Amino acid sequence: MMTVDAVIAGGGPGGLSAARVLAARGASVVVLESNAEIGSPTRTTGGTFIQDAVELGIPPHLYHPVRGGRMHSANRSVSRSYDPPFACILNVRGVFQFLAERAIDAGAQMRMSTTATDVLEENGKIVGVRVKDVRGVDYDILARLTFDATGYRATLSKRAGLHDGFERFGVGAEYDMYAPHYDESETVGIVGSAFAPAGYAWTAPYGNHRVRVGVGIIHGDSKENPRDYLDKFVERAGDFKINLRGAQPVEYHHGLIPSDGMAKKFVMDGMLALGDAAGQPSALLGEGIRWAIRSGILAGEVAADALAANDVSEAFLARYERQWRKTYGKNLRIAALINKRIAAWDDAQWDEGIELLDQLSARQFGQALASNFVSSWTLWALAANPKLLRKSLGLARAMLTPSP
Ligand SMILES: Cc1cc2nc3c(=O)[nH]c(=O)nc-3n(C[C@H](O)[C@H](O)[C@H](O)COP(=O)(O)OP(=O)(O)OC[C@H]3O[C@@H](n4cnc5c(N)ncnc54)[C@H](O)[C@@H]3O)c2cc1C
Repeated sequence: MMTVDAVIAGGGPGGLSAARVLAARGASVVVLESNAEIGSPTRTTGGTFIQDAVELGIPPHLYHPVRGGRMHSANRSVSRSYDPPFACILNVRGVFQFLAERAIDAGAQMRMSTTATDVLEENGKIVGVRVKDVRGVDYDILARLTFDATGYRATLSKRAGLHDGFERFGVGAEYDMYAPHYDESETVGIVGSAFAPAGYAWTAPYGNHRVRVGVGIIHGDSKENPRDYLDKFVERAGDFKINLRGAQPVEYHHGLIPSDGMAKKFVMDGMLALGDAAGQPSALLGEGIRWAIRSGILAGEVAADALAANDVSEAFLARYERQWRKTYGKNLRIAALINKRIAAWDDAQWDEGIELLDQLSARQFGQALASNFVSSWTLWALAANPKLLRKSLGLARAMLTPSP
């Protein structure tokens, strides 16, 4: 038995960010991570945006800027380049361990190879977790606040009845390759039935001749296994002027990301969910690291206020949920809607989609990839492109139609 102010299940970017904020505000915090290592095994490509990396304090040696992006459908392609660069690929293990070090510096305790198996409940309020440690020993951690940062599984949210978990997932299969001839200045995306039905294939360089090459498919919309397409993509990469000559995998990754959109609820008495466990990644590209860090910071701040006020009720914690939805809700809802639409596209529709994307300036293209839709660039782009406007009106109608 152990008693703390806050227990955080999950040592991913979300949980570690919340831990740092809470510990810095003087709370006693313990992070539980079921894996033996933070950031390993890697389950993510690590593509993100330089502005976010800077704002979130990620040191430049832990990310690799990319100057160009290309997207190919069966018969069309679009490419854009950026000077200065706009996107980057993270050294994932390096960044996650850096976030852990920052949390430890602030005073957080870490428990590795330790799994939160259930929540502890008292009169409808969550008061901690049941844990299985590395030796298989079960014990309880009593906490004034419990965080579900367990990622796509949302284990504690489901156990507590906070929300029901997710039904639609991006499922990814990826090689981390040593690729001595790959052009490290660019990242490439491939859409269409040949390489990624209901998803996309990608290459993402992160420096020193290392490139993540993967395929992601939305399960819920398709039953195809991305693993079945990965080797074919590697073999045929040359068709897209992707140079994998002499390249071989050094690691194989497999992972899931929730793609339903945001969970219905993020908080209840004594408990908060954040990051993937709250459905907070952008479903557009299946991109959630910066979102998880931001939600960890926001949830951590509100939780620290709740501890100081001695009020861990749902009503108090709802400040986190309100603020999140107000700041990011519209963009994330649009990202999820677009993803649901495009996941059903056939090759001809993708060709048309790529043609539309080719109408956008480099800046507009970048803003769209970053899921930044509620912004003045959108109006300019729509005003200049009647076809894009027609497509967007269809999307807006879908958004305004209440779900059954
Ligand atoms: C194939 C693939 C590619 C991706 N590519 C990108 C990308 O390019 N860019 C991007 O931004 N995002 C990407 N993502 C998504 C991104 O990885 C997640 O959105 C992000 O990691 C979410 O952070 P998190 O802290 O919420 O959860 P996670 O990173 O999933 O961390 C959850 C942690 O909790 C641990 N855990 C789980 N259950 C328990 C338990 N019961 N007790 C204790 N510990 C537990 C897990 O081991 C894990 O370490 C990708 C995802 C996949 C699957």
